[in-house]
Amino acid sequence: MRTVRTVAELRAALVPAQRDGLSIGLVPTMGAFHDGHLSLIRRARAECHVVAVSLFVNPAQFDDAGDLRRYPRDERRDATLAAELGIDLLFVPGVDEIYPAGFATTVSVGGVSEGLEGAHRGRGHFDGVATVVAKLLIAAAPDAAYFGRKDAQQVAVVRRLVADLALPVRIVACPTVRADDGLALSSRNALLSPADRERAAALHRALQAIQDAIKADPDDVRAAIAAGQAELSAAGIAAEYLEVVDRETMEPLERVDGAALAVIAARVGGVRLIDNLPVALTDEDHDELSHTDPEVATRQRAPTA
Ligand code: AMP
Repeated sequence: MRTVRTVAELRAALVPAQRDGLSIGLVPTMGAFHDGHLSLIRRARAECHVVAVSLFVNPAQFDDAGDLRRYPRDERRDATLAAELGIDLLFVPGVDEIYPAGFATTVSVGGVSEGLEGAHRGRGHFDGVATVVAKLLIAAAPDAAYFGRKDAQQVAVVRRLVADLALPVRIVACPTVRADDGLALSSRNALLSPADRERAAALHRALQAIQDAIKADPDDVRAAIAAGQAELSAAGIAAEYLEVVDRETMEPLERVDGAALAVIAARVGGVRLIDNLPVALTDEDHDELSHTDPEVATRQRAPTA
């Protein structure tokens, strides 16, 4: 594994793979790896000839200076883990490399970015995400880029960005990796006190309660959300939002008749957590929504080495 720190080095390192027609997979991350990140990297490793992982805590997507300051960082540990998984390139740009002096371009995705995280963290959050993802996709020119379903709205924003700019990359959305009690793994979980870490499992219970209620009555989203709220209240947690939304547009739904997600954001002891679960009418739909991606398995060249 080679570590590169500039866009020019990244491009140069990928030239031979492109020349030889090898498939390139990119896994964009902010580091502080946990098993969620590692699952994306493993998937990329299994599906692509050459795997690049980026490590960049993107200041532009933080709406809170304290959150950015406290965000866990450990490049050495991340590099060791990435090397163990057999990746080819670790791209670790500094802030000045991504946003050099005079940088004045913002990529802003309308519609799908506006609700939920966009409404609560502010417009700048997804502008920051879209700008850095566009820059990474243009720099690495991967065949496939791997994202986690844990950040469902981010996946929807990235899909919109890629479609609108006609970027020739396949977006692969990977299942959420959870702790035994259901809490979605997140770099921010490390900031929870032991008591808050225990309470935080209520987020997943709330989403499950919604999932169960929708299965029983897909026409009554309001009752389903109330069942979710009850789980949160029992743990003394107030959600920033708890909704059932269309999986692609992220628009709130009043009844479920297709692919939908229950989504949540909540602060637990000052740490902001987000999560989501697919809600669908049958177990089969649910299984399909959670574990597979209709775009995966097509167009993929199997690695030879
Ligand atoms: P982050 O470093 O938090 O920006 O995450 C980098 C990538 O890992 C994003 O595509 C996330 O959606 C994904 N990711 C984060 N947590 C998980 C998880 N628990 N399971 C699967 N993917 C995740």
